[in-house]
Amino acid sequence: MTDCQHCHKSAKTASANMLCANCRTDYWAMIYQLGHVQLPALRSIMLRQAHIGTPEHTPNKGNAPLPIDTHAQDLIAESEAWLAEQAGKIRAAYAAYDWRKAWYAIISNRHTILNMSTAADDYAALEHITRRNEQALTPEDELIILGTCPKCDSMLTGTPEAESVTCQGCHREWAAPAIKAARDERLWQVRITGTPSDAAKELKRYGLTVSRNLISQWLKRGKLSHATPTKHKRQYVFNLGELAAQLDCHR
Ligand SMILES: [Zn+2]
Ligand SMILES: [Zn+2]
Repeated sequence: MTDCQHCHKSAKTASANMLCANCRTDYWAMIYQLGHVQLPALRSIMLRQAHIGTPEHTPNKGNAPLPIDTHAQDLIAESEAWLAEQAGKIRAAYAAYDWRKAWYAIISNRHTILNMSTAADDYAALEHITRRNEQALTPEDELIILGTCPKCDSMLTGTPEAESVTCQGCHREWAAPAIKAARDERLWQVRITGTPSDAAKELKRYGLTVSRNLISQWLKRGKLSHATPTKHKRQYVFNLGELAAQLDCHR
């Protein structure tokens, strides 16, 4: 018995390259998905617009987080490079194929691809690529700010349920819960000036759902000691960390 090189579970039917049966199935589905769904979708996005993600409206300029800015072109280039590399391993001449022909070559050589000595590494590389693609193909309003990369300070975005997140800057992978916890700590340094509704909208970008009514109630009950009124009616300087913490108690 040997361990699968991908999931590290012991595999009874370890093949030559040490991928277990489950991982072989998942790997194959991912390859299929890349050429069948992701690349065509990314290419049509690229034709429609220069890049995905328009900078969002931010209530105050002072500490506006970076806009989500994932370039479809980079993702396409990385996806195509992966396909070309695999196709080239089947036969050197295939490396020069365009992406669609490369993908077809791969799809029609299942046995060769799955039994390649480099399959575990290729699978890991493909996982990173498809995760980034998936993120870019997720409508922007479903993405939240998970936090900041501890290594390179890039903003990390993902879906609210994401378990892990790959940094687009340094390509490192992080556990989402730890990244979010660090983010909530840092929110204490972030202030926003606006109405309870503005504050609620800003929190939503972090995946923190709270209604403007609830924020107004907190204000009335004196629960927000860091919130200070401004000279404008209904406008306050809110501390996002305090709001997040208050929301935490409320849950
Ligand atoms: Zn496995
Ligand atoms: Zn990073």
